[in-house]
Amino acid sequence: MNARPFIYLDANATEPMRPEARAAITQAWDLAGNPSSVHGAGRAARAALDGARREIAGLFGAEAANIVFTSGGTEACALAVHALSRRDVGDAVPGVVLAGASEHDAILRAEPAPHPVAVTADGCLDSQALERALVALRPTLVCAMLANNETGVINPIPAIAALCHAHGAYLHVDAVQAAGRLFPEIGALGADSMAISAHKFGGPKGIGALVLAGRATRALAPLIAGGGQEQGRRGGTQAVELIVGMAAAARAARAQDWGRIAALRDRFEAQAVAAGAVVCGGGAVRLPNTTCLALPGAAAQTQLIALDLAGVGVSAGSACSSGKVARSHVLAAMGLGELAGQAVRVSLPWSVTEAEMDLAAAAYGAMAHRLGRKVA
Ligand code: PLP
Repeated sequence: MNARPFIYLDANATEPMRPEARAAITQAWDLAGNPSSVHGAGRAARAALDGARREIAGLFGAEAANIVFTSGGTEACALAVHALSRRDVGDAVPGVVLAGASEHDAILRAEPAPHPVAVTADGCLDSQALERALVALRPTLVCAMLANNETGVINPIPAIAALCHAHGAYLHVDAVQAAGRLFPEIGALGADSMAISAHKFGGPKGIGALVLAGRATRALAPLIAGGGQEQGRRGGTQAVELIVGMAAAARAARAQDWGRIAALRDRFEAQAVAAGAVVCGGGAVRLPNTTCLALPGAAAQTQLIALDLAGVGVSAGSACSSGKVARSHVLAAMGLGELAGQAVRVSLPWSVTEAEMDLAAAAYGAMAHRLGRKVA
């Protein structure tokens, strides 16, 4: 008997590795040298690193010199908050940091701790609340995500950037969920820094970058000084193999037909709504692969388990590393009340098929019917 296939719809947690990334990494294992060594083996590793850096920079509209490789999105955000909360590189005491209430914990738990700014019912940063906070608190740095990890809702970053700069604040954009699904150019966003992470676009886990522009390209106060790599902005021998895989994944993601993914998402979403679901942030501009579906009266944890038993892997946006599901701070910030504990995130990976989405929709419909009857 054939085992039932597992349908993976948790791409916002991590995308499956793209074959192009796997091939590039496999080849790079043969680079024996350290990219900081001056001999031939070191130079070969350096050439691979520089090539990947140029490619990633080009895809995100940055100068190669303004890419700082990190261990992922969390570290890239932590570095931005640490460095850009200081007006000058030598400042021992950081200034005030603001962040949208629906930001990821990579921002909300960074140091110094940001002051939360309200989001609208759609999940976008509330520009009036932001302006009031800019006037009252005179922050050094504002953090606004490009796309939300739970709802896929996209913030109007260019307008936010203009507002921040008019008040003399830097803008850091957490683009971890957007990068590779959209290809935001840092200049067009108007951001001073932008965090990206390879495993969200089909590259390896444990590698990401902080992309810098404008005033932020000055020397940064590093979080990790170490041996002065990355122009003194982030110490530690670069993970050349992972960086090469990240570049290959970004290139492949750029060639992806995201219209196909969006059409599959839209069809699934319509079927879920017909089964009783409410789309969280459905009125906003969103990522093509994400839908956040609340089922009134049904706990998110119950839905996760029911779908897992049916062979469909989704998540509640608020699942923490312990695997427990808490009420979503994102949906709570959007004013969704009880629904904040009753939503699951369905995020389609680049590799998903129409047949898989049909099976997933049937599983969702059956679950909604069963749980709906229990609730009624
Ligand atoms: N920012 C957002 C919006 C995310 O969704 C995530 C991961 O889920 C991160 C930051 C952290 O990225 P990483 O897993 O690469 O540390």
